[in-house]
Amino acid sequence: MKLQYINKLLVIRTIILILLVYGQTSTIDAQQRTQQRTQARRHGDRSGTTLNIVCSFSDYATIAKEIAGENAEISFIARGEQDPHFVPPKPSYAMQLKNANLWITTGMDLEMWSSTLLDKAHNKQIMDGEIGFVSVSDGVSILQKVEKGDRTEGDVHLMGNPHINTSPLNWKIMAENITIGLMKVDPANSEYYRKNRDAFIDRVDRALFGDKLVDMFGGETLSKMLDNQTFFEFLDKEYKGEKLINDLGGWLKKAYPFRGKKVVAYHKNWAYLAETFGLEIIGYIEPKPGIPPSAKHVQHIIQMIKDQNITLMLVASYFEKKSPQMIEDKTGVKALFLPLFVEGVPRINNNFQLVDYWIEQIGSNIN
Ligand SMILES: [Zn+2]
Repeated sequence: MKLQYINKLLVIRTIILILLVYGQTSTIDAQQRTQQRTQARRHGDRSGTTLNIVCSFSDYATIAKEIAGENAEISFIARGEQDPHFVPPKPSYAMQLKNANLWITTGMDLEMWSSTLLDKAHNKQIMDGEIGFVSVSDGVSILQKVEKGDRTEGDVHLMGNPHINTSPLNWKIMAENITIGLMKVDPANSEYYRKNRDAFIDRVDRALFGDKLVDMFGGETLSKMLDNQTFFEFLDKEYKGEKLINDLGGWLKKAYPFRGKKVVAYHKNWAYLAETFGLEIIGYIEPKPGIPPSAKHVQHIIQMIKDQNITLMLVASYFEKKSPQMIEDKTGVKALFLPLFVEGVPRINNNFQLVDYWIEQIGSNIN
C-alpha cells in the first residue's frame, strides 16, 4: 500500500517534470520562432505573408500581378487616363508608399513627381538603390537618347524616351526586373516568381509572334531578331518549301498591313510601339516633348500632312483636343485618341487588351 503510494507519487512527479521540461522547450521554441521571424523580416523574407507593392503606373501593376500572383496586394498611383509626366503628388499617395515593400517605377525621368512623395513617405526600403526599389527600364534599349543635361529637346525625356510601356518586347524586360525585385524582398518564393515570369514571357511571345513561330524558333530568338530589325528579312526565307512569313501570327500579323506607313503624333508617346510594329512617325504636334504647340509649328505640321498624304495622327487621350481636331479639320487626317495605359478607357484591364485595342484602332483608321 505504501509502496503503491510512493509509486503513484513518482509517476505524478515524473509527469510534472515532463510537463515542466516540455513547457520550457515550447517557450524556447516560441522565442526562437519569433526571433527567426524577426530575422526573416529584416532580410525581407515574408513567406506566407502578403507583400504590399505600389507601382507608378497601371501597366506595371498588371505585369507585377502576373508575377507576384496571390503573394501581393498591388496598387498603382497614376490613373490610366492621366498624363504620366504630370501627376499631382497627393498626400494619400505618400501614405500608399509608406508601407510598401516594393516600389515599381520606370526608373527614368517619367515620374519626376514621385520624389516629393518618396520624401514624405519616409520608407527607406523603397528608395533608389534599396532592396524594395524596382526600375523596370533597366536593360531596355532606350530610344531617342539625348546628351546628359541637354534641354534642347524639351523639359521632359531628358534620359531618352521613357514611354517604354508601348512595346510588348519591353514588357518582358520589365517582368524580369519585377521578378528580381520580388526575389529580393521575398526570397523564399523565388521559384514561384520565376515560374510566373516564364509563363508571362511565353504569353507575350505567343501574343506577339503567334504560336507557330514560337514553337519553331522560341520567343527569345524571335524577339532578338525583331529588336535588331532582322526579323522580317528572316521571315522572307523558306522553311520546308514555304515562306516563313506565312507562319506569322499574333499582333505582328495583325499589324503587318500598316508596316512602313507614315503617321504623325502629338507627343513622343508611341516611339516603342512604332519601332516594334513598323510605323514611321514623321512629325509631332508638340515642337519638343512637354512644350505646347505654337501656331507656327501647327502650320508646319499641317503642311507636312498635306505634302506626304498622311492619314493618321496618334494622340494619347489625355492631351487637349483642340489642336488635333483643328488639324483634322484642315487636312482630313484622322486624329486618333488612344489610351496610353491600362484602364485608360473602361474596358482595357490589362496590357494585352491595350495592345489589341491599339492595333485594331490603328489598323481600321490608317490608309
Ligand atoms: Zn513623354
